[in-house]
Amino acid sequence: MSSKKYITTPIYYPNASLHMGHAYTNIVADTIKRFNLLDGKDAVMSTGSDEHGQKIQSKSKEEGESPKAYVDKIVKNFVCLWEKLDISYDFFNRTTSSNHEEFVGNIFTKLQNKGYIYSGTYIGYYCVSCETHYSEEKYLENDKKCSNCGKDLKRIEEESYFLKVSEFNDWVKEYLEKSIDITPENRKKELINNFLNEGLRDLSISRTSVEWGIPVPNSKESTIYVWFDALLNYLSGIQYDIEKKTAKYWDSDTNIVHILGKEITRFHCVYFPIILKMLGARLPDKFIAHGWLITEKGKMSKSLGNIIDPISVIQEYGSDPLRFYFSNNIRFNEDSKFSIDLLKESYNTNLVNLYGNTVSRTFKMIQNLYDGKVPKYYESLVIHSEFKKDIDELFSSYLENFRNDDSIEATKKIIELLRKTSKYIDESKPWTFKEKSNEISTILNLCFQATYLASTMLMPITTRGSQKYFNALDVKTPSLFSDIPLSFDNIQIIDKINLYDRKK
Ligand SMILES: [Zn+2]
Repeated sequence: MSSKKYITTPIYYPNASLHMGHAYTNIVADTIKRFNLLDGKDAVMSTGSDEHGQKIQSKSKEEGESPKAYVDKIVKNFVCLWEKLDISYDFFNRTTSSNHEEFVGNIFTKLQNKGYIYSGTYIGYYCVSCETHYSEEKYLENDKKCSNCGKDLKRIEEESYFLKVSEFNDWVKEYLEKSIDITPENRKKELINNFLNEGLRDLSISRTSVEWGIPVPNSKESTIYVWFDALLNYLSGIQYDIEKKTAKYWDSDTNIVHILGKEITRFHCVYFPIILKMLGARLPDKFIAHGWLITEKGKMSKSLGNIIDPISVIQEYGSDPLRFYFSNNIRFNEDSKFSIDLLKESYNTNLVNLYGNTVSRTFKMIQNLYDGKVPKYYESLVIHSEFKKDIDELFSSYLENFRNDDSIEATKKIIELLRKTSKYIDESKPWTFKEKSNEISTILNLCFQATYLASTMLMPITTRGSQKYFNALDVKTPSLFSDIPLSFDNIQIIDKINLYDRKK
């Protein structure tokens, strides 16, 4: 098993504020990173902003600003949102940084020298909004509209540099079929059937009509196509060495996972691996391509006026409810519903009633009968060994799920653990014990163990609530799963606890 982990999110377009979908992607990435740190890995996460292209150029013009001044302003809001959501990224990659621009130029030259880039004339159709190209056939097939956003396509004829991806059609097909993990599986079939079986065409990777981009080396008129520019952020941010073909987080000892929305699988799972292959770089281990967030009535979109602003939700509810929602109420392989009502329900049911109540009940019982000092666990009392076994098994499956990057399944194990604990309290009725005994001591110890473990398991997800839990104890917050004590006897509860307030 590798000792390092590198998790990436897409870099986002600063053409407008970020929406809930972006928050979803970054929360998933962040929880996976935080889990891996607890699991003892050297885990890092990257996110960033994709700042070049036609769309930014026109948008900044509308606002009467230079493109750079315009993106600087918007990127500040990105950083602010990630801070409010406790997104602990290690790299924030901006494609207008001099490090990135220089890197992309060097890669261009490298691929040109290797004969993978040639010049020609590009004729095609282009969606300005999605920065996506369409061939003549696709243009007619899609009724002259962008298949992603539905907008009209623009005809383009210009001198361009091309990347020889057609040579890699069979290679990438085999790579997708055999050696790469794409979650969900069906996305892989879609790419192969709808795209690779037709045969890849060489990709136009420069523009003469777009000024706001990284200049093509030794060319006065052309800039580099934004997708080619953007994909390379995964390498430039971690200081990938083009000659040595490696980086600290891009070597054989790193598990590399890219998280993205399903609409950009083509660029990530087809073109990006080909570029890596051309460079002689190692290939990623996994792509997690998640579905979209939808409302109960369908797609979220600006024109329908049903976009939910993450900042206002965090102001009202805090970050934990959102982080928890995207770990518990979502499925990667399908579009998932999101609404304020659903968020509230998930929060009240799971964080307030289940987690919060189980913790406060347990603490109160220990405080009443044992002055807040966790009483001894008597292993010989076999009557309670089944619950102990449940706790241990759920913890093991949680580890297994999360080690496979399945934060969603892992979260279900936490919920199950808390449900079992709540049921155990109801059935063993600790409040009926008026005096200390080995039995009540064991029961309360087990309840405490379960809340301690659940709080540790929640650490990658509900960053605030779990910290509040550990702050109420006289022991230090675990920074690794291996810090979990073997015995919980005598841990002192130093404070009353109320983890979450109910929301009406
Ligand atoms: Zn489009």
